[in-house]
Amino acid sequence: MTDDSLIEHWVHPRIQDLAAYQVAEAQGLIKLDAMENPYIWDETLRAQWLKRLAAVLLNRYPDPEARALIEALRRRFAVPGAAALLLGNGSDELIQMVALAVGGPGRVMLAPEPSFSMYRVIATITGCDYVDVPRCADFSVDAEALLQAIDQHDPCCVFLACPNNPTGNSCDPALVEKVAHACSGIVLVDEAYHAFCGDTFMDRAGTLDNVLVMRTLSKLGLAGLRLGFLVGPEVLVGEINKVRLPYNINTLTQASVEFALAHLEWFEDKARAICRARDDVYRAINSMRGITAYPSQANFVLFRLPTGTGSTVFDALCNRGVLVKNLHGAHDALSDCLRVTVSTKEENEAFVSALAGALNDSK
Ligand SMILES: *Cc1c(COP(=O)(O)O)cnc(C)c1O
Repeated sequence: MTDDSLIEHWVHPRIQDLAAYQVAEAQGLIKLDAMENPYIWDETLRAQWLKRLAAVLLNRYPDPEARALIEALRRRFAVPGAAALLLGNGSDELIQMVALAVGGPGRVMLAPEPSFSMYRVIATITGCDYVDVPRCADFSVDAEALLQAIDQHDPCCVFLACPNNPTGNSCDPALVEKVAHACSGIVLVDEAYHAFCGDTFMDRAGTLDNVLVMRTLSKLGLAGLRLGFLVGPEVLVGEINKVRLPYNINTLTQASVEFALAHLEWFEDKARAICRARDDVYRAINSMRGITAYPSQANFVLFRLPTGTGSTVFDALCNRGVLVKNLHGAHDALSDCLRVTVSTKEENEAFVSALAGALNDSK
C-alpha cells in the first residue's frame, strides 16, 4: 500500500480536510498576534521561582489530582464552594474533553460566530457538526437567532466566549442564563479574558446544571505553562473528568502556577496596565481615517480597514517589523479585519506608528 492510499483509506475525511494549526513566524518582529502578556518577572521573583522548582522531583509522576493547586485556584479566583473544578493542559484541552464527553457523529456544537477558532476545529476533530450562528453587525450576540438555532439543532454544547475572541466584546450574564434554560446540552462560558473585563459568571458557577465556566492563565501572563480550569456542578464535571488522561498537568506547571498564584497581585497589576493601554490603542486606531476599531474588554483590539486593503496593510505592518493577526478570510464577517494584542507602552506606540505608515504605503 502506498502512503497515499493509506491516508485515503484510513484517515477520516474530516481530518484530511483540516490544516494543522499554523503559528506565524515571529522572528525579529514585535509579536502582537497571540494575546501574550509582554511582562516578565524581575530577577528577585525569578530567583524565588527557580528555587521552588529546584525542589521538584521529576522521577515521580505528578499529583494526579493536583490537590494543592486546585485549592489555591479556588481561593485566588473565588470559585464557589459547591462547584467542582477540573484542570486542563490549557483551556484548549478542556474544550476537547467536553467534546469527547458529549460530542461525536450526529451531534451538534454551536456558537455565535465569529468566535474562537478552536471551537470549530475541536468539534470537527471529534466528529461533531459545528453550527455557526451569525452575530449582529456590532458583533454582539444575536440572542433571538441563537435561541432559534438552539431550538432547531438541539446542540450538545454551546460556546459563549465572554469576552469574545476575536471581537473583544463581552456578553450579558443574563443572556448566559437565558441560553442555559433554553439548551438541553452544555453551555460553556469561556472567560479566557476575564483578567481584562469586569463581568463574570463565576459567582454563579455550579448553580445551573448545564453551565460550565472556563478560565485560563494564558492571557494573564503564563501562556508557557499551559493551564486552564473548568468550574461547574459536581455531577457534570465528574463525567467530563472521566475523559481526562491521567497526569495531564505536569509537575513543573503545578509547582509554577502555585508559585505564581502566591503573587497574583503582580499579574493583576499588569492586567490593569494593559487595560489602560488598550483604551489608548483603541483611540489611536479609531482616529485614523477609514479605520474602525471595535470596543474591547480583552487584551486586544479588532479593527477593520477600508475594503480590499486588509491583507495589504497586514503585509505592510510585517515589513515595518510588527506582527498582528490577519483575520481577513477567517470568517465572512471579518473581511479586512486585523487584531492587535495590547502590549507595553513602547510596543503599542511602535504598532500605532507602523500602522500609520502602513496606511500611507497602501494608498
Ligand atoms: C486563547 C483562548 C483560549 C485558549 O487558551 P489556552 O488556555 O492557552 O489553551 C480559550 N478561549 C479563548 C476565547 C481564547 O481566546
